[in-house]
Amino acid sequence: MNTKQNIESLRDELRQHNYNYYILDNPTISDYEFDVKLKELQALEDAHPEFFDANSPTQRVGGAITKNFNTVVHNFRMYSLDNSYSKDDLLDWEKRIKKMVDGDVHYTCELKYDGASMNLTYEDGKLVRAVTRGDGVQGDEVTANVKTINTVPLQLKGDYPQRFDIRGEIILPIEGFLKMNEERIANDEEPYRNPRNTASGSLKLQDSAEVAKRPLECLLYSIKGNKLNISTQFEGLEKARAWGFKVPKEAKLVNSIEEVLAYVEYWDTHRHNLPYEIDGVVVKVNSLFQQDELGFTAKYPRWAMAYKFKAEQVSTRLNEITYQVGRTGAITPVANLEPVQLAGTIVKRASLHNADQIEKLDIREGDEVFVEKGGEIIPKIIAVDLTKRLINSEPTSYINSCPKCETQLVRPEGEAKHYCPNYNGCPPQVIGRIQHYISRKAMDIEGLGGETVALLVNEGLIANYADLYDLTVEQVIPLERMAEKSAENLVNGIKASKQIPFERVLFALGIRYVGETVAKKLAKHYKSIDALMVASTLDLVSIDEIGERIAESVVEFFSAEENKIIMERLKTYGVQLKISADKLANQTDKLKGLSIVVSGVFETVSRNELKKLIEDNGGKVSSSISSKTSYLVAGDKMGPSKRTKAENLNISILTESDFLKLVK
Ligand code: AMP
Ligand code: ZN
Repeated sequence: MNTKQNIESLRDELRQHNYNYYILDNPTISDYEFDVKLKELQALEDAHPEFFDANSPTQRVGGAITKNFNTVVHNFRMYSLDNSYSKDDLLDWEKRIKKMVDGDVHYTCELKYDGASMNLTYEDGKLVRAVTRGDGVQGDEVTANVKTINTVPLQLKGDYPQRFDIRGEIILPIEGFLKMNEERIANDEEPYRNPRNTASGSLKLQDSAEVAKRPLECLLYSIKGNKLNISTQFEGLEKARAWGFKVPKEAKLVNSIEEVLAYVEYWDTHRHNLPYEIDGVVVKVNSLFQQDELGFTAKYPRWAMAYKFKAEQVSTRLNEITYQVGRTGAITPVANLEPVQLAGTIVKRASLHNADQIEKLDIREGDEVFVEKGGEIIPKIIAVDLTKRLINSEPTSYINSCPKCETQLVRPEGEAKHYCPNYNGCPPQVIGRIQHYISRKAMDIEGLGGETVALLVNEGLIANYADLYDLTVEQVIPLERMAEKSAENLVNGIKASKQIPFERVLFALGIRYVGETVAKKLAKHYKSIDALMVASTLDLVSIDEIGERIAESVVEFFSAEENKIIMERLKTYGVQLKISADKLANQTDKLKGLSIVVSGVFETVSRNELKKLIEDNGGKVSSSISSKTSYLVAGDKMGPSKRTKAENLNISILTESDFLKLVK
């Protein structure tokens, strides 16, 4: 055997031991023997750097330092999951599904591992990239750190596809977490709060050798890619397991929603026996074809549902109620609590939402209150323990004036919240608006962060987002923690934002109720800020899914003199205030007013391309057939009941080529 073969065979052997130990939980050699072999391999690799392999078992110990984590766009968006909290929610979900797909529906039930989600990319059986979820569209590349996790295979086994992504949860098993904390306490360090935050925090450590010391694991639950030759979720799990991934055996294939309910019930009572924390169960439609039929909403897949276990509750004292001012001027009362341990974290604050909520609960400073942690990160106060109320307690009187600028608060009719109307002079509003403007999903200005915005406003350098474009490097340098390079980056980042397309600019303006989706609709309909600025409420509500509340907010925004001036200024700086010419060229009104359902698989275009074509040509994509449907575009493998339904309702059925002719 020559050296190269020797190295290869040691690597293979160590990989197999690693797999036996971490995935199968069934080691066949002692830790000592393993270490001896690993050292032998390390020595050979050191002596022969020409045979270096980034995925060798020796690379698990880490050592690489990452100063800045690169942002990487996901190949497939990482959606979040719709939540349910009761059996009825699950039954309703099943009803919705049955309306949209044909045939029997089977489900894969999985545990909802409570950690940090991770996307791994493999090529030719080797791990090439590991990226955090981030905002779902893009995340941070943490490959060097993830390589140190023993349950992440660096080299796959068996018959794997040439290229694919696989998703999982990086978790910290409870035992490992407790051990880490024992050590910290022994070293007189503050213990970590809970396994989930410790796991996600570990991924962003700069020193991968530090990560290697933590007993993290990666549990896998979903494969993404093209031409994978997998037809169900459950099959995907089994294949992933065969390729060497850790896929918990608790995943179960069931044939009815009743069996789903039984699974949920079982794990609600048995979850504490698991070696790691879970916060619920995830139910997925098993057939990938049916998943495709169901598709996605803006946020979630329609084919999956998380069931969250009932929240844990504790009681604690409410020390003080304080008030926060948001970027829209909305006031949020906050309960400052006596710190208390709840579901693995220490809780100090809870939102009280609004004046009505305080009145309804009759909540007072000094009260003993019940706090619950549900699906949200921010805990909720659900009730006051009246038996413990102090004799001298006084009802809470809500504030009348803004805690930041002392302006008299207003409460618009029909709204639950109070607002500070000092739009241009209330610091948190001014700062918050600009912070929203520069944020990732809006203008995505690189080199400028939220704290710097606050600094710029407090120093009087800017008072609105148009002022950003007048900033000079000389003005910025004197600021705290600024150097010439960072000042230049900041100014360049602002300049680059002039390329951001109109729909995102519209979202960035921070008009109340105009989120990403509404901004897209408005941009598509009006095509320019000039047209939008003169639109009436009546005009606006005629657009599909634009209601009165949004319409009024838009009209109000553009009727304010200061906003008109800001729009004019943005225009002169060259910010995109209309749809770009090439985008316009692809858009027509050919399908205006038509509601179209797409079903099946297509030959020359993907289902998503088809949907985009419909929207670009002014049509509306709808997910189920009704009497309002104008056309059904039918591809291959469309279910027979859809066809029957369309025929019964006398809806024209188009083939792929019929449809393409229609829009060409
Ligand atoms: P949420 O963050 O509540 O919207 O839930 C979505 C997250 O649940 C995903 O981003 C995953 O990280 C996580 N998750 C945990 N277990 C699973 C599972 N078995 N299937 C899918 N997602 C899971
Ligand atoms: Zn104010």
